[in-house]
Amino acid sequence: MHEDGGKEKLYAASLSGGKDSTAMVLRLVEEGWPLDFVMFCDTGLEFPQMYEHVEKLEKALPVPVVRLKEEKGFEYYLLRYTPERKDPDSPYAGRPGMSWAGPRNRWCTSVLKTAVINRYLSGPRKNYEIVQYIGIAADEPQRVREYRYPLVEWGMTEKDCLDYCYERGYDWGGLYRLFDRVSCWCCPLQGLEELRTLRREFPELWSRLLEWEAQTWRNFRKDFSVQELEVRFRFEEERIREGRRIRGKEFFRELRERLGSMDGLCFPVGEKIREEPEGEVQDGTDCGG
Ligand code: SF4
Repeated sequence: MHEDGGKEKLYAASLSGGKDSTAMVLRLVEEGWPLDFVMFCDTGLEFPQMYEHVEKLEKALPVPVVRLKEEKGFEYYLLRYTPERKDPDSPYAGRPGMSWAGPRNRWCTSVLKTAVINRYLSGPRKNYEIVQYIGIAADEPQRVREYRYPLVEWGMTEKDCLDYCYERGYDWGGLYRLFDRVSCWCCPLQGLEELRTLRREFPELWSRLLEWEAQTWRNFRKDFSVQELEVRFRFEEERIREGRRIRGKEFFRELRERLGSMDGLCFPVGEKIREEPEGEVQDGTDCGG
């Protein structure tokens, strides 16, 4: 406590492990900004390369990396935790688990990240004024809400952040050559291209996605369940082998026929499948980076 009654400041940086927050932490240290500790909130859903990256970074940093984790974990909330629904006639009443997150229901961000960090900081907050650094890049101004945003102050874009990390020897075992953005591997808000890559490069994680889907009730995406994506991606592979296109009317007509023979479609048969431009993120997640 200062003589004037004001609290001393404690400086904490939030690290998702992605390129943006990594660049922020590295530059804060390089430029000698006040920094007392870094918080890495582990959802349990990071790629294996991300955990290796955080370990490597931790060894190089002059300040501690505090690892935080919600104790029950994602799977418990996805499949088993049943929130009290105020409206007994709600179509969700009595359904077990929170099921997949959606653009307007990103429960996992609040439960597995925000609440965990706030709980942790509530201790030091009693005696200190906390200054929290958040690694949102300068080309994502819509994400800027509160706290302190050094990347925005420095004008660093997402590309600048990636270059900055590469120049300092951080390459995430090649994750950013596979994905533009990296967040939870099971995120329903990622784009089709990311999901295609996940299935191709991380088949064991993809299998887990299929297993979870079989045990939960909300559709993975508006347009495709994971099972339907499995059908689509296999069909795409077949067509690529045959030298045929994986876009256009004919592709979608045949895909529709294949999906039409499945039970429990996301789409009623006959409805048009939206042709998602390659690389488009379905609704976007602002976790990770
Ligand atoms: S990245 Fe996706 S799955 Fe992970 S916490 Fe954010 S919204 Fe949830």
